[in-house]
Amino acid sequence: MLPYQTLQEAEASLGRNLSFAETLWFKYSAQKSDYLLYCHNTFFLFIFYSVLPLPYMFIELVRSHKIDRFKIQPKIQNSLADMLDCYKKVMVTFVVAVVPLQIFSFPVIQMIGIRTSLPLPSGSDIFLQLLVYFVVEDYANYWLHRLLHQKWGYENIHRVHHEYTAPIGFAAPYAHWAEIIILGMASFLGPMIAPGHMITFWLWMIVRQMEAIETHSGYDFPWNPLKYIPFYGGAIFHDYHHFVGGKSQSNFASVFTYCDYIYGTNKGYRYKEAFEKRRKELKQM
Ligand SMILES: [Zn+2]
Ligand SMILES: [Zn+2]
Repeated sequence: MLPYQTLQEAEASLGRNLSFAETLWFKYSAQKSDYLLYCHNTFFLFIFYSVLPLPYMFIELVRSHKIDRFKIQPKIQNSLADMLDCYKKVMVTFVVAVVPLQIFSFPVIQMIGIRTSLPLPSGSDIFLQLLVYFVVEDYANYWLHRLLHQKWGYENIHRVHHEYTAPIGFAAPYAHWAEIIILGMASFLGPMIAPGHMITFWLWMIVRQMEAIETHSGYDFPWNPLKYIPFYGGAIFHDYHHFVGGKSQSNFASVFTYCDYIYGTNKGYRYKEAFEKRRKELKQM
């Protein structure tokens, strides 16, 4: 809740006029508690998870020879019933794990100093903080994911996520509830190191979810602009991790490729890449 009753009070406190975005934020948040604003996150996670995989679902349903060129594992076809079944199972995990995690993590948000106050952060502040969050989460996720591939972690927790050897958009958060909590905690590390505004936190959760859905989409489109982000792994990188399955000791990182390169866990993938490239060259000869 903002410590001002009127726009004039807010402007007097900042010593300047509010920007358009700040006026909107004031009108929306002034009478809402910080807890309620934080709980918006659960709503965003639900909405974005329900909507973002839909284009991939439609593509999968209208598969043709042309579309198959972009499908990473073209021999696998998912029916509408399969995909909706995945969606339903994830929704159950959302209710069991994500909603309580969201509700009870509010003290952490207060402790690390996520603010709802004015002024709003600038675009460059938001960009830099999101960059830090991605790098920190990617590093933490690499090691936690690698740990989950140890015998106990895999058999008791992580094998659920690997039921999909050819992932689909809806399968991005398809996992054991314990995995959702373990990897969910990694998402808080960046905001702990560089705490920002609640809007930045919302954006972080939304963009991270968008990335996870794209990574699990099962499609590698050449025009995807994300390919231009340095060291970005994308769908083809993570798809290989699912393709190899439980025995996979390759491609653990969630977003970028450099951790697997540095720690030598991308050898199988690089061999496959070289093999595929050579196969294509031979086909063209
Ligand atoms: Zn894995
Ligand atoms: Zn995955």
